Amino acid sequence: MKRWGIFVLLFIFLLSGCKKEASRAETTVFAMDTVMHFSVTGPEPEKALEEVTSLVEKLEEQWSASSPDSVISALNRGVEPEDAAQKAVVEKALALSRRTGGTFDPRLYAVTEAWGFPTKVFRIPSEEEISAARKQEKWDLGAAIKGYAGQEAAALLQKRGCSGILNLGGNVQTVGEKADGTPWRVGIQNPQGGDYLGVLSVTGTKSVVTSGDYQRYFERDGVRYHHILDPETGAPARSGLQAVTVVCADGMTADALSTALFVLGLEKGTALWRESTDFEAVFLTTEGQLYVTEGLALSDCPQGFEVIKR
Ligand code: AMP
Ligand code: MG
Repeated sequence: MKRWGIFVLLFIFLLSGCKKEASRAETTVFAMDTVMHFSVTGPEPEKALEEVTSLVEKLEEQWSASSPDSVISALNRGVEPEDAAQKAVVEKALALSRRTGGTFDPRLYAVTEAWGFPTKVFRIPSEEEISAARKQEKWDLGAAIKGYAGQEAAALLQKRGCSGILNLGGNVQTVGEKADGTPWRVGIQNPQGGDYLGVLSVTGTKSVVTSGDYQRYFERDGVRYHHILDPETGAPARSGLQAVTVVCADGMTADALSTALFVLGLEKGTALWRESTDFEAVFLTTEGQLYVTEGLALSDCPQGFEVIKR
């Protein structure tokens, strides 16, 4: 009997020892109008995933451009948020707009509506409609909030002692270090489909965000009308790019900059990079050429690329 008792105690001890070891969990959720995949390593990873999912759902509701109860709808009624964190997001959006010369414009929603993007009932609005829509200055943080959600989720996971990789529909957020000490590998999507264009090696907690003309668009008479609008014209930006990827420690900045760099194009986008120290970027031109700022490590890229130097 005594022997059995020792065995049982040893078994319980081993079990509790296992529980404390890091383990991995994954989940796929639909939020912010996109499919998201989260993979987490650390203590109680399932619980961490539940918390990340609720956080993303809470932020979706808070920052939705269509929900009448959102911070965005309140802003459109002229009501500023009182909550300090929400206030900081609004101020940061305005600062990012100033930093990018207005190419990231958080008040373009009525123009996006005029093109039918939120309802997917697409149409080509007239010049008059576009200029009336621009005057409405309706808020929309759709170009930055997934990045913000990624950074907030990363902070939550780090507090819990977890690491991992969160894919928020094209916005990739790495969290902490990989268990085996090697860098995270983040593939850059090929808009033409098939294999990745290349793989970025990223260390630590970073946001890797892509804006592209292939993500949301409609076609009329052989012309593609995509969802990234040039605030100057109110029409889809034609800057000679198909896609831009930004790598930055701050998720909201990465997201807003990917949209802004898409509007700016290669030359002006490079100029913004040269006057900044907080991000790196990959540009894919409409001709299919890749340009990569010198602070990035891109590999597995059969087509080759040009390095942009400071
Ligand atoms: P992203 O995919 O991050 O580049 O964001 C694109 C989304 O942001 C669009 O679907 C619109 O809702 C909104 N948007 C479009 N053009 C702009 C712009 N120039 N500045 C800010 N938001 C924009
Ligand atoms: Mg963006």
